[in-house]
Parts: sequence; structure tokens; C-alpha cells
Amino acid sequence: MAVIPVSSIYPYAQEHIPMCIKHDLNIDITCEDCDEFICSQCAKTDHKDHDWKTIPTAGSRRRKELKKTLSKVKEKDFAEIDEKIMKASKQREGNKKCCDSEVSKLQKHYDAIVSKLDEIKKHLDTKLVENLERKNAEVSKKKLDLEKKRDHIKDLVEFLEDKHGTMSDYSLIDNLRDLTNLVSNTDSDIEREDHSVRYRRGDISEGSLDSIMGQTFDLDDFSVTETDSFQYGDEHLYVLEAIDEDTCLTRDGKSKCFERLNIRNKKKENSNICGNKVCVTDKGDVYVTDYRCKPAIVRLSPSGSACTGFNTAPLVPFGICQSTEEGLLVILVDDCTNIFHLDSKSRRLVRHVTLTGDVIREYEYQEDGQTRLFTLPYKVRQNGNTDICVVNSTSLSTGELVILSSSGFLKSVYHGQNLIFDPADVVCDAHCNIIVSDCRNSRIHLLSPDGEFMKYLLTENDVTKPYSMSLYKSTLWVGDIKGLIKVFQFNNT
Ligand SMILES: [Zn+2]
Ligand SMILES: [Zn+2]
Repeated sequence: MAVIPVSSIYPYAQEHIPMCIKHDLNIDITCEDCDEFICSQCAKTDHKDHDWKTIPTAGSRRRKELKKTLSKVKEKDFAEIDEKIMKASKQREGNKKCCDSEVSKLQKHYDAIVSKLDEIKKHLDTKLVENLERKNAEVSKKKLDLEKKRDHIKDLVEFLEDKHGTMSDYSLIDNLRDLTNLVSNTDSDIEREDHSVRYRRGDISEGSLDSIMGQTFDLDDFSVTETDSFQYGDEHLYVLEAIDEDTCLTRDGKSKCFERLNIRNKKKENSNICGNKVCVTDKGDVYVTDYRCKPAIVRLSPSGSACTGFNTAPLVPFGICQSTEEGLLVILVDDCTNIFHLDSKSRRLVRHVTLTGDVIREYEYQEDGQTRLFTLPYKVRQNGNTDICVVNSTSLSTGELVILSSSGFLKSVYHGQNLIFDPADVVCDAHCNIIVSDCRNSRIHLLSPDGEFMKYLLTENDVTKPYSMSLYKSTLWVGDIKGLIKVFQFNNT
């Protein structure tokens, strides 16, 4: 291995004194603030109030500290670099593992498709072969029949040839009649037994094959960019519901009524909309839950005056959202004191209702009709694929995200990533991905439509204790527990 003499890279002899381009003077000063060599004129002008020293003064100070400087590099910086190198190796391994796991998922799906195709092919094969067997069995029967007839005719012909001389006329005529009958009766209609099942091939359309095979997507393509923020107050922002890109309804822990906030011009105004939770439908109708008054779910006009509503008593409404099918989804909970200790009388459910309160369906138990779906559900959102996503508290400090199909089948339960998980809010994007706020760990999780973790959309560097969320088209609103509202542009292309 070639060894480069250090002196050739770092010359220490001062054979050449550089000149200042600006002032045409010797460069004999070093500015400690700017880490630059300068001339005496620079020192008086651009670097006037800076900490500069003559090169010999600075040099001798550096020499005194040299041992310390180098040993710091050797001990601390080297160790840090080594750690980064180790991290890089680990990351390579991790990347390999992750890729392998995705490849094996693809292989598994491919095998499943192939075995399904195999099944379909077998079924088609069977149909063809069954027809062949049925038809040929008929043909064989008819063939046997013909062979018998042929033998019979042959016998009769031989008999007539042999015996016609000794036969009475009567007998001859009778036998010839039999012969004619036998010969004319050999029409066995075997054409009817032609193989009649045909195979017609289907279209191999690239699009449908792609949709069966699935696709790859790049997590780097999911990104969020902060576009605006507003310090609303210093209270916990319980509810945040976007009305459009710029406006949202919000309520903090202190207020009973919502305020309308325009994030662009930073204006907040009283909305006259009072209640616990709020949901704004695509049409702009506002529905509010309120357990202090009756009816418990109220539809409001845009001005905030109550129009109509329906009662949920004795159950108390918690979360509310618009259904992507029709009507609303409302979380209903029995009014009891021991909220995490359920007994047979406890009610914890999501009710799908029409806009006038007629019950369409209730989601309370799993398919066995006995196992409860929820402990304390409090936020609900219906995904574009009609799945129902429910934030469910399991204790004072833990929770989970329950994902149900609209037919009531429990699809998955998300428990976070290795840390104690206590989700606060959930929204769904236009591609049915699920976004969950993790207040405790200051993160926003991005999940696939099946509830599989994809990545952290936001971490503690972007948000602190995010609680309430709302997604309007690609504008993601996040409200934290200290009154800060942040708005992000969410990209997933
Ligand atoms: Zn100069
Ligand atoms: Zn300077």
C-alpha cells in the first residue's frame, strides 16, 4: 500500500505567504470567529469586532493545545465516526432484511395466485374431460350395439346363403324381411355424441393482472411539509375539524363552544356551535354531539342555530363522523362510573345511523357475538373503502386502533411500534391509508389500509404531543395539547 508522506498534503514550511486579494497585503492574521485567514486591513474592516489574532500568536496557542485537540479527535470524534459506521452496517443489514421480507410477501402472494389459477385450470380441465368421458361412454355403448347388430346380420346372411335352397318360400321371405329390418336399424345417430364442450380463452389484460399482483410503492413518496401554524391558546386542543383548506372548527379543553379559525389570515371567530365533538359533512352540514342536553346529536345550520336532532339516551355520544356510505357513525357509551371495567350491562359501540337517527347497524361485538370490540371507544372515522377505524382506549394510558369492515368483521388491531401506544385521533387519506396521532410519543403514524405500519409521517421534530387531527383533501391539520395548531401539506404521489 502506498503511504503518502503527510508533509506533502499538509505543508508546514511557510515558504509562501499568501496575499489578500482585496487589499493586496500579506495575510498574517487569523479570524477565530470566521475561521479565515485575513490581512490587517480586513481586520480593521470586515472583521472589525471579531476575535482575530496574528498567525504566530494563534499558532503558538494551537501548539499548546495540540495534544488536547488531537486526543479529543482520537477519543471522541473517532468513536462517533465508528458508531456511525457501525450504524451504517446495521442499516444495510436492516434494509436487506426489510427487502427480503417484502420479496417474500410478493412470493407468497404470487404462489397464492398461481395456486388459485391452478384450481381454476383444474376445474376447466375437469369440465372438458367429464364431457369427453360422458360422450365416449355413449359412443362405446353405441359401438357395442352396432357390433352386436353386425354379428347378427352376418349370422343371418350366412344362414340364408347356406339354407336358402332348403327353405320354404314363406321362411325365405320372413328371413329377408328380418334382414332388411336389421340393416335399416343400424342408424345409431352417433353424431349426437360429438365432444361438445369447448374452451374459450379469457383476456390477459395487463391492468387486471397488475391489480391482482399488487404493486410496489415508495415510502419516501409519502411526505408532509409544514405550511402554517397558529398558537391558538395554551389549552389542550380536543377537537379540530377542517371545513376547507384554510378554515377549521376547533375547541380546547376550556370552552364549551367551537371557534372558527382561519389559519391563513390568523383570524378566529366565535361560531355559535356548541357541543362536545363535531363533524362537518361534505355538504357542509354540521353535526354536534352533546351529552349535557337533549337531543344528544344536533344538526346545526351554518350560523350555529340548532335545526333538528335525535336522542341517544341512555347512551352517551362520544365520537362522531360522516359515513362514507350514508348517514353518520356515532360512538355510544353507557353512562357509568367505572369506565375501564366492563360488565355484562356495559355498552360500548359504534352505531351507524341515518341523518335522522334511524339505526342502520351497530358494531359492538366480534363475529362470535360475545367478544367485545371496544373498551372505551372515543374517535371514529370511516375510510374510503368503508372500513371503520376506531380509536379505542384500553386503560387510562394505553389504547389501540380497531379496524372493522363495514360488515362488522374485525380486520385488524394496531398496537403501535414497540412503545406504549395511546392513540388520540385518526384520519384517512384519499388512497385509504390511515393516519393516527400518537400523542404520548409525539408521532404521527402512517398505516396501510389493512392497518399495517408504513412509516412515521411526523416525529417529535415536527410535532409535540399531537392530539386532534383533521384531513381536508391534502391539508393535514394537527392540534396539540398546548394549543398549537400546525397545518401540513400531505403528499402521497
Ligand atoms: Zn484584506
Ligand atoms: Zn471574522
